[in-house]
Amino acid sequence: MSFSELGLSPKVLSAVEAAGYSEPTPIQAQAIPHVLERRDVIGIAQTGTGKTASFTLPMLSILERGRARARMPRSLILEPTRELAAQVADNLVKYGVNHKMTVALLIGGVSFDEQDKKLDRGADIVIATPGRLLDHFERGKLLLQGVEVLVIDEADRMLDMGFIPDIERICSLIPFTRQTLFFSATMAPEIQRLTDTFLQNPKQIEVAPPSSTVSTVSQVLIPSQNDDWKKREVLRRHLKQAEDLQNAIIFCNRKRDVSVLFRSLEKHGFMAGALHGDMDQRSRMMMLENFRTGRIPILVASDVAARGLDIPAVSHVYNYDVPHNAEDYVHRIGRTGRAGRTGTAITIVTPKDRVSLDAIQTLIGKTIDWSDDPVFATSPDDDETKPRERGRKSSSRSSAKSTAGGRKEKRAPRREREEENEAPVVGMGDHVPDFLLRPVSLPKQKKSKVA
Ligand code: ADP
Ligand code: MG
Repeated sequence: MSFSELGLSPKVLSAVEAAGYSEPTPIQAQAIPHVLERRDVIGIAQTGTGKTASFTLPMLSILERGRARARMPRSLILEPTRELAAQVADNLVKYGVNHKMTVALLIGGVSFDEQDKKLDRGADIVIATPGRLLDHFERGKLLLQGVEVLVIDEADRMLDMGFIPDIERICSLIPFTRQTLFFSATMAPEIQRLTDTFLQNPKQIEVAPPSSTVSTVSQVLIPSQNDDWKKREVLRRHLKQAEDLQNAIIFCNRKRDVSVLFRSLEKHGFMAGALHGDMDQRSRMMMLENFRTGRIPILVASDVAARGLDIPAVSHVYNYDVPHNAEDYVHRIGRTGRAGRTGTAITIVTPKDRVSLDAIQTLIGKTIDWSDDPVFATSPDDDETKPRERGRKSSSRSSAKSTAGGRKEKRAPRREREEENEAPVVGMGDHVPDFLLRPVSLPKQKKSKVA
């Protein structure tokens, strides 16, 4: 299959060629002809399968006819995060080199003035996050009657981030005669309801079962004790010995841990950066740019900050924490193995992650192998983490200590642990004297009224 068979305009085709794409991805091949027929489309495909081009390319072809009017954009693309919106804008610049389309990017963290000016001049395409779009609308700076094509991208993330009411509102502000294109990696019931309400006789395209993982990603689990210094050590060991590692994204569940881990890696001499929701727009963009150009090969990130980022050729994804939400696992590891490349996804698993891990394996419909590298088979808590694989009862902790991989790993000596722990040691450090743990009975107190 080649791009030229899809019905795209010559201008778009030459831009695609210049972008270096030799053939369309499955979602592109299946969606583009229907978009060009002006049908509503629901496109379900995993992260990294090229969904952006499946709506931007035909959109450019469609918009070649006609002109933009002041404050009345002709098309609207909704994205859940500022980064994703900025990325789609970059893509439009790339695919639209032969066009004179005006693209307005309406995202938070940037002044309204610039954005207003763009809108006043007349934008062919508006790319926006839902909140910022509604802000502009309420300020009377934006009229939505002229929108002919509406794209709701990354719908599952919109759902995660609580944007569904905003999307419903926006959909009801745009003429019913519009064409609506809808893209998501997964299809939750709430999303189904949205498409049932706002799309007309849509063509549904699903290129892979929802929530499946890309086959070009090799996935592996590494056991660790449930201890941050231990987890960081396991991570560093892996980072150092991973031969084919070019660049890596390391995911943490909490943004607080993003900063802690980032500082720890830096302290241990790794070139690392961090990406979390508390950073302002400019620093996030700068960080991303440094990662993209390879100046910073390791990026520690939270789910919200990293979702859907267009970073080609990430060789490794690390789950420093097992995600609580199984679908986040799919999204995280979708950062590697993109567009047919191979990738590796490593997940550090502690005994308390059992339930989350089971949920992930159920969702992706397969069991993930434990690393067979002996370096990582030495955690004294292994038998709790992976009881079945070792054929031991999870209660037989003491016997595991002497048998695991023939190696006995003791807790690191005191000095090493303190070096490792960047938090200053307060009081008696992590040694808790017995007397402090003994239960004490307190005299009964009256309940405070303030509570
Ligand atoms: P999705 O939105 O499905 O997660 P993207 O649209 O962000 O994925 O695309 C993922 C990556 O694949 C991007 O780096 C993009 O440039 C690249 N890509 C898209 N289409 C093609 C193609 N036809 N051939 C090669 N690479 C492509
Ligand atoms: Mg996308």
